[in-house]
Amino acid sequence: MEKQRYERPVIKKLETNMPNKYGLRTEYRPMTHIDGVEVTQLIQDHGSPLFVISEQTIRRVYREAKKAFATRYPKVQFAWSYKTNYLDAVCHVFHQEGSWAEVVSGFEYDKAIRNGVDGSKIIFNGPDKTEMDLEKAIKNESLIHMDHLDELYSVIELATKLNKKPKVAIRVNMDTGIYPMWDRFGFNYENGQAWDALNKIMRSEKLELIGLHCHIGTFMLSASAYSAAAYKLADLALGVKKKYNHDIKYIDMGGGFASKNTLKGSYLPGSDVNPTFDDFAEAITSALINSNFEPDNLPLLILETGRALIDEAGYLLGTVISNKRSSLGKRTTIVDIGVNILFTSFWYDHKVTPAQPFTQYTEDTTIYGPLCMNIDVIRDSISLPLMNKGDHFVIHHVGAYNMTQWMQFITLRPKVVMIDANSNVHVIRKGETIDRITEFEAIPKHLEGFEL
Ligand SMILES: *Cc1c(COP(=O)(O)O)cnc(C)c1O
Repeated sequence: MEKQRYERPVIKKLETNMPNKYGLRTEYRPMTHIDGVEVTQLIQDHGSPLFVISEQTIRRVYREAKKAFATRYPKVQFAWSYKTNYLDAVCHVFHQEGSWAEVVSGFEYDKAIRNGVDGSKIIFNGPDKTEMDLEKAIKNESLIHMDHLDELYSVIELATKLNKKPKVAIRVNMDTGIYPMWDRFGFNYENGQAWDALNKIMRSEKLELIGLHCHIGTFMLSASAYSAAAYKLADLALGVKKKYNHDIKYIDMGGGFASKNTLKGSYLPGSDVNPTFDDFAEAITSALINSNFEPDNLPLLILETGRALIDEAGYLLGTVISNKRSSLGKRTTIVDIGVNILFTSFWYDHKVTPAQPFTQYTEDTTIYGPLCMNIDVIRDSISLPLMNKGDHFVIHHVGAYNMTQWMQFITLRPKVVMIDANSNVHVIRKGETIDRITEFEAIPKHLEGFEL
């Protein structure tokens, strides 16, 4: 047996915390390897902090999600939500798996085109599409999901100018029993806005109404909300068929499925209580199948799920800078990961595991980042084994949104590596350098010199 590490003896104040469903046990085991690659080696080779993405996990989770839907419904298509993680390598894995692209800005649209996605397989969402963006999308026969009437009028004008029949859908918002309602995007179902937009599209005869879209929220903890939404979109599609004898080709249910993360304030871990792909699939597909579509003429079902597909594949590796005691004696650990690269720590109690063996002693700890700001807290309160200066740790389920919403603040953003199925490590985003940051800056002539 390996010799146990020495740890100083401590006197511990007894604290009776809330038990989890296993009682007071701490379910910690060190995470020494990711997909067969040693964590300490990754940090040695690529620095700390370091984002690590597991290609295998992306593919496994994607296939799990695909299967949940495809076993229940005949026509299913996923479209990768670029804003959730638009690193090219990540997008390529999803495209290799058969995902189309779902984009919400001109920048993301161009990224999808550069990744080689056929224009007709790009879904263009979002309230801010410029005339130039729209023109490009029309020429490429992309699927334009309209958010407001101003956009609808622009697309009609462009259709005339370009002599093309753009493929359009409308985004619909509706009451799904979840409040506050996301009613700022698209056209409302209950108050008739959605029908108004549909009538304008059909009567213009300039546009091809191809689909109906909704995206009812994010990190949804209720599958039944999707059932309500699917029934309402089906109702609109059937209404268009009846009124105009026009077939809606697809129903796009958006994204928003909860990942396995644990929301702050949640009593039980998200991996145990959040709905699964099967739960979401069952709610959506049974609503569509139970609607009055002709059984052999069901619309294609599109899903734009983002965070639930990528969260689990992302890890963030870091290093302990120091341990301190707060004024009240609570253990605090300062690490080299700040909220600037881990935005989601504002919403989640991210799981953190040491990367080296430890003894059984744990203590309620606050984890602070290195930013000189009071809000820089990675975990308010976490029962952690002791870690010392220089020890490494792994933060779990960070694949969604962190690598797109991160900011450059007082330090440089770290590298991102991907581990492939054969445990090969690939750098998929280089670490930033000071030159890269200052290359965008300029010093006006009169500010050039100074004497101190
Ligand atoms: C952000 C977004 C998604 C993805 O949402 P997740 O919560 O990451 O699943 C899908 N569709 C639209 C329109 C979005 O804005």
